Amino acid sequence: MIKVERFINQLMSSNCFVVFDDNTKRAIVIDPGSEKSDKEIAFIEDNQLEVDYIILTHEHTDHNWGVNSLKIKYPNIKLVCSDICDRLVKKSNRVFFSFYYDNPDYIYIIDSADILIKSDIDTLKWNNLTIHFVMTPGHSKASICIEIEGLLFTGDTIMPFPRYLNKKDGNEDDWKKTIAKKESYYSKDVIIYPGHGEILTLGEWIEQNRTVERP
Ligand SMILES: [Zn+2]
Repeated sequence: MIKVERFINQLMSSNCFVVFDDNTKRAIVIDPGSEKSDKEIAFIEDNQLEVDYIILTHEHTDHNWGVNSLKIKYPNIKLVCSDICDRLVKKSNRVFFSFYYDNPDYIYIIDSADILIKSDIDTLKWNNLTIHFVMTPGHSKASICIEIEGLLFTGDTIMPFPRYLNKKDGNEDDWKKTIAKKESYYSKDVIIYPGHGEILTLGEWIEQNRTVERP
């Protein structure tokens, strides 16, 4: 059975999720955003998991700062992200850091992804399951959502507070289209694992979002 463990990343309190199968011991890490990934690595070791993939929902630093520490610890791990994300992480990781880190010259480089997600029909086989992807531009052009066995990992596309468009990379019209697509693709009972904040259902999020004064 698939289980999910949530970790809160150092920057901006974003969520990292370790998705794993207790029987086969296969695992995936979604959005590792802490530089050393030490809590995630401790969990992986304690549970004797084999990590196959890191999957990024989008390019922002608070969702990928830990990629390198995991790749050093587990050299066979494969990095998966959208093709736009792959291009942007090589450029934008420094820009975002200047906001959050005392040292504006600090830079980290992520090597090219191993698997690029380019469209809604792309899938990935993992642990005898099929992982589905949805392109969800809006919060940023590179954003994707990841669906594993009815669990939806949304990154910053859906968060349990007033919607947030990234000032630099966001696009209001794209975001609205993305949300309309989501509401037609998925049942309201689908469980959302957001990029920040608590886990909730799509129905709960729609309800919250309706009553919120939009900025
Ligand atoms: Zn973001």
